[in-house]
Amino acid sequence: MDCIFCRIVAGKIPSDILYQDEEVVAFRDINPQAPVHLLVIPKKHITYLADLTEKGTPLVGHMVSVANQLAKREGISESGYRLVINCGQQGGQLVPHLHLHVLGGRQLSGHLG
Ligand code: 5GP
Ligand code: ZN
Repeated sequence: MDCIFCRIVAGKIPSDILYQDEEVVAFRDINPQAPVHLLVIPKKHITYLADLTEKGTPLVGHMVSVANQLAKREGISESGYRLVINCGQQGGQLVPHLHLHVLGGRQLSGHLG
């Protein structure tokens, strides 16, 4: 198993896990780009968002729902936050295991890339 995030799911790499259920795990990003920077990932290894078919829609919906709940818990729900999924090389995806970034706690730039 050489996927970093699969290793986090398996508990083989320590991480600051905030939430988990049968489908997803959420933890703090090791190199935060904002005061709140969380990652929500599926437990199942999916490399790219682009690999998902229509069948993946409930999973992505659940990831967004978990992100919303954690944003509330982190106190950024009212001030605002950003959800980002990078896909592939030009999308800036460095870790090849699907993940949703939750960023907030400061004014984020209007630039998206
Ligand atoms: P990407 O550029 O692939 O969308 O984002 C990958 C994110 O994973 C980066 O923000 C990076 O800081 C984070 N990351 C990479 N390795 C680890 C790790 O071992 N633990 C945690 N908590 N985050 C990681
Ligand atoms: Zn993986």
